[in-house]
Parts: sequence; C-alpha cells; structure tokens
Amino acid sequence: MGLKYEKKNIYESLNKVEQESMFEYTDDYISFLDYAKTEYRCTEYFKMVLEEAGFKNLESLQGVLSEGDKVYYINKDRSIYAAVIGEERLSLGMNIIGAHNDSPRLDIKPMPMFEKQNMALLKTQYYGGVKKYQWLSIPLSMYGIVYNEKGEKVEIIIGDKKDDPCFTITDLLPHLSREQLELKANKFIDPENMSVIIGSIPNKDEKSEKVKHNILKILNKKYGINEIDFARSDIRFVPSFKSKYIGFDKGLIAGYGQDDRVCAYAAVKAIIDISEEKKVLKKTCVALIVDKEEIGSEGNTSMNSQAFEMFIANLLDNTEENSCNLAMYKTFNNSKMISADVANAVDPMYEEVSDIQNSNILGCGVAIEKYTGAGGKYSANDASAEYTSYIMNLFDKNNIIYQFGTLGKIEKGGGGTIAYILANKGMEVIDCGTSILSMHSPYELTSTADIYMTYKAYKSFYIG
Ligand code: MN
Ligand code: MN
Repeated sequence: MGLKYEKKNIYESLNKVEQESMFEYTDDYISFLDYAKTEYRCTEYFKMVLEEAGFKNLESLQGVLSEGDKVYYINKDRSIYAAVIGEERLSLGMNIIGAHNDSPRLDIKPMPMFEKQNMALLKTQYYGGVKKYQWLSIPLSMYGIVYNEKGEKVEIIIGDKKDDPCFTITDLLPHLSREQLELKANKFIDPENMSVIIGSIPNKDEKSEKVKHNILKILNKKYGINEIDFARSDIRFVPSFKSKYIGFDKGLIAGYGQDDRVCAYAAVKAIIDISEEKKVLKKTCVALIVDKEEIGSEGNTSMNSQAFEMFIANLLDNTEENSCNLAMYKTFNNSKMISADVANAVDPMYEEVSDIQNSNILGCGVAIEKYTGAGGKYSANDASAEYTSYIMNLFDKNNIIYQFGTLGKIEKGGGGTIAYILANKGMEVIDCGTSILSMHSPYELTSTADIYMTYKAYKSFYIG
C-alpha cells in the first residue's frame, strides 16, 4: 500500500475488458432503477431474479437445508431476504449485507382529493427527508396499491410509459414570488401546498365539483375504486424521469431512488453471482433488503421488524441446528455485516460542508464509513478497529478500490443507516456503499465505476 496514502481514481486503472463488464452491469442497473421505483416493485424484481437463479421460497420448503442451497423470504410484499447456505454451522456466524429499498417520495393523504380552480388534486405528505422545492414543476408518476370495497387489490402504475399521462405540482411564478422568496428556505414551500394535479376536464352533467366527479368516474372505470378507497391505499408519487448516463463519457449515472437501490441491487446481484460461481461457501451468506429506512426503520417491514429473527430461526431450524435462543444469539454475535447504504460524495459546488480528506470523491471507489451519526457520534454505528482492518485486508486482497468518508463536517448535519440495528444484536457492522451527489433529490447522481466497484466489494465480502 505504500508509506503514504493516496486516493485512487478507478477510471485510471480500468482496462478495456473491465470497462465492458462495468457497462454491462450498469446498463442492467439502469433498467432496474426505472422498473423498481417503489419498495413493492423492488421486492417483486428481486424475487424474480432470485427465482431465476434457483432461489426457493423458504416458506414452501420441505426438509432440511444443506450447503449450496439457496432460499429467499418475502416479508409482507415489501422487504425480501435471501440466503445461500455455507458449509459452516450458522452459529459460527454469517456474512450479511443489508440495504434498503424505500426512497424519499410523496405519499398521498388518506383523504386526498379536492377540486379548486377547475382542477382536481391529491393532497400529499412527503416520506423521508426531502428538499420540498425539488418536487415542484417536475413530471411525477403514480405508483401504488389500493383496495376496493370488495377487498380486491388493484395496482396503479401510471406515468412512466411512453403514452402515459403524468402528474405535477405547481410552483409559483417568479413575478409574484417576492414575498415567498423572503422566507427561509425551510419555510418557503408549505408542505400543505404540495398537491398533485390529476385532472382538469369537468363532467358537465354535475352541478358542483365537476372535475373531481369526472376524475372519480375515470378512476372507477379504470381501477374500480371510489373516493373513500384512497384511505385503504399505499399510493405515492415519484419522479417520472428515466435514469441516464451523465456526461459524454458516461462516467456518471443519474436517476431517482439510487439511495438505496444502488446498494440493494449490488447486494442481490452479488449473492446471486457467488451462488453460481462458487461451489462451496464457507459462511452462510445473507442479503437483507428492507423497507422503511427513510423514516427511521420502524415498523413490520423495516430492519427493526422481528421478521428478521424469524428468518434466522427458520434457517437454524432447517440446517439441523437448534433454533433455541442461544443458537440465535451466537449466530448474531458471530456474524459480520456490511450496512449497504449510500454515502455522500464531495459536491464540487459545496465543498465547504465536507472535510475533504475525510470525504468520498465520485469515482474513487466504494465508500466506507467507519461511523455515522451526528455531532459527538450520537446514534452512530462506530465500527471497531478490528473489524475495519478485516474489511480493508479483505478488499486489498481482492483489488477492491475503496475510500473512507464521513457524513460532512462535524455538526453540519448528520444521519444514519440500518447499521446500528444489527450492531445492537452483537454483529460486527460497518457502513459500506456507493457515494452519491444530490442525495434524496428526484435525480440522484453516482459514478458508474463506483457502482460496479460496490458490487465487486460485496462479492468479495460474501466469499470472505
Ligand atoms: Mn439510504
Ligand atoms: Mn436516505
């Protein structure tokens, strides 16, 4: 490694063959991003590719699991776990990579619909940390599920196909924004004003709320739902943009939901590929793709859900290992984990918020965050020297280009991932993922090379 440390730019050491495999990987990743704009679609996509690779639903399994067996478990359609059984007993520890599949977006309120100035609109409530102004005056697609009075589930996906209409939220014209622009940036967009326009043609047979009535008729015809059914729905608006390579050289990729689908995709792709390439894995490898991280990992589809313990107990039971508490505790205690989430990269326009030498630069490798949190490391997962050294040695051995970053200068802000949840169970955990610009915006930016390096890093972690 040399006496002095210097950051490496992946592109400077990438040969032609590697470059081709990189673009092959990211072409598929781009299609995935455009397909999987919600946690639902993400789960559905991963189920599909896992099944194609021979993973079996753990719930439908008869008999015991042995080394090389591949299973998955879906938790309430919104999160998915996958495992490849290794040769060692589970209680000697597993290699786990955990990512999340939910991204900031605009959810609808339970009673969302109203009409004003000849337009029908839906009231929204933002999900996760958004800069509200970024969601105005852009094309939005509508995704979700809704139940009708008969209890039937209807899926709504509209806005992304070529001939689909889409939706939008208005922004005030600059000519009349003098007072608005005097307000502080966190106040100048009232979240109660973030209603999405969904129609404007009146039903002339009605006396009042003519447009709303017309839209309700269209919704009823298309989806068989009534106004009250919005209350029993999970409907959200997401950007309609297509993901794209950025720059003449295609060195970057922009798209919605890369936090954290870039790491989720890499984790699933890595577990599939090692299960196909490696005949025998020493440790049982697990990919966890969980929901609700952006709102604090609470709830029955989040990392905090006991569904995870149930999954591990199930694996223990099926590998002829007693699933008593002790076996479970030992499994947790002896496991190693990568919390696979995005990290911030230095923004060339806002360098002042970063301590550059402790920050990630796009293109300089998979980003390791030894600790997260805020201020005096509050709420941080603080990876130990021992475990950090293990990861560095592993990556060095496998020619993985990595860098170390922190989430900006101390006291500039802060944040966390699912890392602490598994660390609290006794595992060794470190944050390691792709670094990103414009995080939580409708159009997040990553480096093509970092995305590919993240996948290679996860593969090497699984093999150990
Ligand atoms: Mn994230
Ligand atoms: Mn996030």
